[in-house]
Amino acid sequence: TTTTERQLYDVVVIGAGGAGLRAAIEARLAGKRTAIISKSLFGKAHTVMAEGGAAAAMGNVNSRDNWMVHFRDTMRGGKFLNNFRMAELHAKEAPERIWELETYGALFDRTKDGKISQRNFGGHEYPRLAHVGDRTGLELIRTLQQKIVSLQQEDFAETGSYDSRIRVFQETTITELLLDGDRIAGAFGYYRDSGDFVVFEAPAVVLATGGVGRSYKVTSNSWEYTGDGHALALRSGATLINMEFLQFHPTGMVWPPSVKGILVTESVRGDGGVLRNSEGKRFMFDYVPDVFRKQYAETEEEADRWYTDPDNNRRPPELLPRDEVARAINSEVKAGRGSPAGGVFLDVSTRLPAEQIIKRLPSMHHQFKELADVDITKEPMEVGPTCHYVMGGVEVDPDSGAAFGSVQGLFAAGEVSGGMHGSNRLGGNSLSDLLVFGKRAGEHAAAYVETLAKRPTPSRVDLAAATEVALAPLVRGEGENPYRLQQDLQAVMGDLVGIIRREGELSDALKRLHELRVRVANVAVGGDRRYNPGWHLALDLRNMLIVSECTAKAALEREESRGGHTREDFPKMSAEWRRINLVCSLDEAGEVHLERKPVPTLRPELLDLFERSELAKYMTDEELGAE
Ligand code: FAD
Repeated sequence: TTTTERQLYDVVVIGAGGAGLRAAIEARLAGKRTAIISKSLFGKAHTVMAEGGAAAAMGNVNSRDNWMVHFRDTMRGGKFLNNFRMAELHAKEAPERIWELETYGALFDRTKDGKISQRNFGGHEYPRLAHVGDRTGLELIRTLQQKIVSLQQEDFAETGSYDSRIRVFQETTITELLLDGDRIAGAFGYYRDSGDFVVFEAPAVVLATGGVGRSYKVTSNSWEYTGDGHALALRSGATLINMEFLQFHPTGMVWPPSVKGILVTESVRGDGGVLRNSEGKRFMFDYVPDVFRKQYAETEEEADRWYTDPDNNRRPPELLPRDEVARAINSEVKAGRGSPAGGVFLDVSTRLPAEQIIKRLPSMHHQFKELADVDITKEPMEVGPTCHYVMGGVEVDPDSGAAFGSVQGLFAAGEVSGGMHGSNRLGGNSLSDLLVFGKRAGEHAAAYVETLAKRPTPSRVDLAAATEVALAPLVRGEGENPYRLQQDLQAVMGDLVGIIRREGELSDALKRLHELRVRVANVAVGGDRRYNPGWHLALDLRNMLIVSECTAKAALEREESRGGHTREDFPKMSAEWRRINLVCSLDEAGEVHLERKPVPTLRPELLDLFERSELAKYMTDEELGAE
């Protein structure tokens, strides 16, 4: 039977990471009946895995820090392709969102004088990451969950039911958004354990589904990151921007093979760890690009002095933005100066006393001991690039998080949204992004519901269609194996749309993705709907494929190298291309379309935060002349 359970809400938040939880809290505070849906267990999301911390210019460790410095760093990190308004809101509001977490019960590490401690990270001029050892994400999620429980307790006191205003549906996957004309009318999905279908009828949906890393074999992302939110947005008439920009984190584990890709936090470098090649050379000094030369040390001595005297010395090049470090490691390995397992060496053992390492990097110490039998207080780690974060995402209105395109009532926040980080995200800017824009999306979703005279309703036809699509891999009987298809997709993306890209390979990738599309349409799984991971993957593949097509198409179109998009055949950054966002949409026939759209122009007072000579490295003469 295919009976479908019906749930009625005002706001449905898809995703229970930091962005989703913060959005749900805000929608509930605005008095809206709110559902939180998560594909995995409640509490397990990427947010919980975040190690380093949340970037916010609180100025606790260096009082020179303020929102303007943070804004500048973010724009530089993103190579000026960022949506400036998002970068501005983020820099201005992040401190407030962190302090607010304390009122919810968060316990951050402290400075000697009792303030929230802040640590150094790549691309951030001052120590800026509020953190809890290297387990910051855990504390963030714990705190947001605690806030939700406390709201449920308030609701219980008032209504006699904990679930009356905010309810969590865990292990529940959304496969389709439902529309009434151009308006959101709800979301359709299934419970992962029973396989039973469920429809959430709601006039507003907030997408907070996180990233896309599972389309790559070597990734720090866990199983649920298959670009569902990106694909749901596209299919409902929204648009994605700049999907060519993927962040390959420079330091993932490379050995043993079973754990390849698992993240080694940037805090290792922030706290003094250095990168060396097989010849023992600290090679990052050879890879400082011109645009950053002024801010980075030229000698090991100066770099080492920076840790204790940052005001009078320049930073070590290990703390360049991630795209730079990932490319440098890639080059060293390619030149034959890699480690035995095909990475490079990251050493903190000769840089900090053992007890400091254990105190500051407890998870890393544990991770290497357990997974690789390496004691990081005594020996170096072997590390290499791993697919980590997608800068591209749902094109949104910066202030409200409302999705662009034809659809109304759809909002997006967190990693699934695009624009904020430009072509490359700085470490630590995601956790603060989730809080700032999660709150905004929740608030605006609630306000949108308020404006509606009539509740949109999903049509029976759409519901029947969503059910049919979901059942197809089970009904088909014979066909392609989903695991095989995922492997083939990962091979195409990893080999042809990876860190270094070329025209011929990208065209080849698009051809192969078209072939895969035919095969994915013929995916078949055995068994029934009760806990059937093969079936779940079969449904995820559809999303991975569309999103991968957007990435490959945009990567072929953008003929320059910038941040998380490196073209061997166009190795330079182009001031003309800086003015262009690549916008991806789906047509009626389900074909991916790409369109060029101008990047919004920086407001004069924001432009004035930069020296003209710096802007000249990024912008055209015309733009600078017009100023
Ligand atoms: P996530 O936390 O990724 O949550 C997504 C949610 O959506 C999950 O609940 C998932 O189950 C749900 N979901 C997905 N698809 C569906 C569907 N179809 N139906 C229902 N639910 C669905 N950033 C920093 O700023 N600092 C750091 O120190 C840091 N460290 C990191 C370490 C690791 C190992 C990783 C992987 C990332 C790290 N990041 C860090 C990045 C940051 O953690 C993520 O970008 C961020 O947590 C994303 O949050 P989010 O709320 O957007 O989504």
